[in-house]
Amino acid sequence: MKNDIIKDQWGLLYSSELLLSIILLIFIIGVVANLSDGLNEKMLSEEEFSSIEAIAIESSDYLLNNPGNPENWEDDDGLNNGIVSKNIIPGLAIKNKNIENGEFYSESASDEMIMSNAISYKKLIKIKNNYNSLVDGNLFNDSVYSSMAIYPLNSKIRPIIMGYDFDNEDDNVNDNNIVTVNRTVKCDFYSNFVVYNFNDFDLFGENYEDELCNHDSNPNLTNHGNDEKSIWLCKNFKVYKESLNDYNYYLISDESIKNSDTYWIIESLNRTSENKEILNQEVIDLNPFLMEDMENSSGEIYSIHFNVPKNSVNDFKTVLVAIPKNMTDVLISNDEFNYDYFRVQDVNFILKIGYK
Ligand SMILES: [Zn+2]
Repeated sequence: MKNDIIKDQWGLLYSSELLLSIILLIFIIGVVANLSDGLNEKMLSEEEFSSIEAIAIESSDYLLNNPGNPENWEDDDGLNNGIVSKNIIPGLAIKNKNIENGEFYSESASDEMIMSNAISYKKLIKIKNNYNSLVDGNLFNDSVYSSMAIYPLNSKIRPIIMGYDFDNEDDNVNDNNIVTVNRTVKCDFYSNFVVYNFNDFDLFGENYEDELCNHDSNPNLTNHGNDEKSIWLCKNFKVYKESLNDYNYYLISDESIKNSDTYWIIESLNRTSENKEILNQEVIDLNPFLMEDMENSSGEIYSIHFNVPKNSVNDFKTVLVAIPKNMTDVLISNDEFNYDYFRVQDVNFILKIGYK
């Protein structure tokens, strides 16, 4: 508890220092702009250009290293209807809530921390939908033109671009008066919906030691020990009945799963199974199966078993996800309902600032 308070104080200090310097720079820009007219037609003086440059760099630092104010601003209902409070200063940093693997149930109360160089996709989308108010107004006090974008290094994920269109022929800003900041950061996309990553072979390789499998201790069930040709990957996870009201559980695999000749079994502890099925679908809805055990119970332990041939371990990329029910349709309609969107991805974050 004491640790949290210290962390928060430092975080606050850091963010208010940066904010203050952005405000000061914007003030300076305002004064300089008043002194000289028709600036758009000519080159900026060295001082003018360096203050624009400083605003671009400091605002990038601010956006990437601060979660924004107030806390959880991205959950403000008004943002869904274009009603944006003057008090919201957006930030993109992720304040991580740890969710214990295998015990997924809403949010855990464990320690929070700000992840460095990692941005929240949810916050980015909220900024995109309210750019004029949140960024032009609240952050830059309408003193500069600006745009923001992320370009994922993974080509299966779309770039997101927002703000002023500097590429438009009719824009008001001389190309020489634009400053661009480019930073490579991580973006979480929908990775916080992941209950389990099953593709951790890379980490453990041949020496992967899997969890205790109930098939190994029960003499009535086939043993899941690895053999020369294939690996068994077995995991237990708990699901609460209440979670099934709020979340859709899916098994999501990369398209390469079709080449992997992987088999899988899902079972509950009271409903064990030897029924190995080929895994060749990218999306499998698990709720109907999970529901069957919840008639008279508030929570059940399930286990999922994969049998992967050793020579196609690289084609096996699968995650177990729990998606809030109201988000599932959004993901599908945005064409984001596939494996790559559930992984943390490297992206180029680009902020452009132009003299107004
Ligand atoms: Zn097993």
